[in-house]
Amino acid sequence: MKVIRQEELGQDNSQQFNMMPLVEVTQLPSGFIAYPEGVKISYRPYVFGEIKKFNQSNMSKLNAYEMALQGVVVEGMAKDDITFADMLYIALLRKISSLGDTSFSVSYRCGLCGKTNTVSVEHKKVSFVDMEVKKLPIEVTLSNDKLITFGLFTFGNYKTLVKENRLHDDLYAMALTAKNMDAKQAYETMYNAPVADEAIIDYVDKLQYHNIAPMEFTCKEEGCGHKTKVRLTGGDILIGPFRESDEYVKSRVRFGI
Ligand SMILES: [Zn+2]
Repeated sequence: MKVIRQEELGQDNSQQFNMMPLVEVTQLPSGFIAYPEGVKISYRPYVFGEIKKFNQSNMSKLNAYEMALQGVVVEGMAKDDITFADMLYIALLRKISSLGDTSFSVSYRCGLCGKTNTVSVEHKKVSFVDMEVKKLPIEVTLSNDKLITFGLFTFGNYKTLVKENRLHDDLYAMALTAKNMDAKQAYETMYNAPVADEAIIDYVDKLQYHNIAPMEFTCKEEGCGHKTKVRLTGGDILIGPFRESDEYVKSRVRFGI
């Protein structure tokens, strides 16, 4: 993971976006496998006005994600085609580069004693879950001989879930990633699949999974020392880093995994 600190950034190629230079992203949780060849993704650090906006408004997650993506330039495909997990990771890069540091703080609650721990994470320690699938689309033939092909869950898919108020409908979320039919058709095909196909559909879900790897932290409370696995992309951590001034460099993480 490559992060350029704000003070290391020159002002030379700064025609776009508020005079802030763009940094190209070279590694992503998806490994770029979901994108056409030659796609280029770059980001710039947050500017002061954006941080102020994060602080002032009680914005929805979708708006916060959209704001995180405002500082991202995608060449060669639509921005909505960025996978959701890649978007969260790029948001983390933006956050770190904006803080002018190479590490960021994570607060979590110990899974045993409940104490809130704050740890500083060096950006180099952030790694990705190894994707099981190396090539897309994922092709699945259900036992009724119906073939469905799948891509990865994108930011555009997420927007659709929000718009249609179906954020918790996992099957529909997967249907939105279908490539050889529309989401409605894919949903009905999977919904009406024989029960025996459930394992296949679960397996597709596993294949599609790509993300920042969870990290394990040891509780600092005396006599505890419990190890808690923390998912760095949970909750608001990556996109809402600036809501309270005293929390400026801190972020909150969903506890456990
Ligand atoms: Zn503890």
